[in-house]
Amino acid sequence: MDKLNSKDIYDIILLINQYIAENKEKLSQLDAVIGDGDFGTNIGRGFETAVKRLSTVDPSKTDIGTILMIVANALLESVGGASGPLFGGLFINMAMSSLGRSEIDLPEIVKMFTDGFRGVQEVGGGTMPGEKTLVDALYPAVEALKQAANEGKDLLTAFREALLAAEKGVKSTINMVAKRGRASYLGERSIGYQDPGATAIYLIIKAFYDHISHR
Ligand code: ADP
Ligand code: MG
Repeated sequence: MDKLNSKDIYDIILLINQYIAENKEKLSQLDAVIGDGDFGTNIGRGFETAVKRLSTVDPSKTDIGTILMIVANALLESVGGASGPLFGGLFINMAMSSLGRSEIDLPEIVKMFTDGFRGVQEVGGGTMPGEKTLVDALYPAVEALKQAANEGKDLLTAFREALLAAEKGVKSTINMVAKRGRASYLGERSIGYQDPGATAIYLIIKAFYDHISHR
């Protein structure tokens, strides 16, 4: 079936944790150049906490919203920095969007990601694309999902297109001047470096795509 169920979401979270853990040093190095170098360690600890808490959860008896709310709370409590509330806001809104649901189809997934994106924007103070943040990967990915859904494409194609859009978005941050967060203190000197938050969003979308393509 062209849907994601609770077990899929559960396994995707495990995969996100794996990808973030594998890229922890890289994410902190990216943050060290235009920020304070804590991003990889912090976001890594957040997903590790989430997975630890999920280990006592049976996905066959738990709705998608509850699984995502456990992730959101773990991120809010253990990540810290600017990214704790930002990624927490993303997952809280995704959780609210899927509360009580044991499976969601592509239009519902689009709504879930759109709500998540709005959560990031609210926490970030109205962050728009072009400001060298995680929004530069998340916004195009959500737009790609939306377009794929409107064109009646399948789940795998939708996430392939979202992943390509996120990858392009991440690369586009290299030539941007940071307008938000610590990196914005550097002004023009932030040009030439990839945004760590956007890179983490790419890994999150990649986990969705890889899970769907391997199941
Ligand atoms: P800090 O160490 O400055 O508290 P983190 O290292 O936790 O911040 O997170 C840095 C990432 O957060 C950036 O790479 C960027 O993607 C994201 N970010 C920072 N501020 C904002 C904002 N206002 N809106 C969206 N994303 C933001
Ligand atoms: Mg930092």
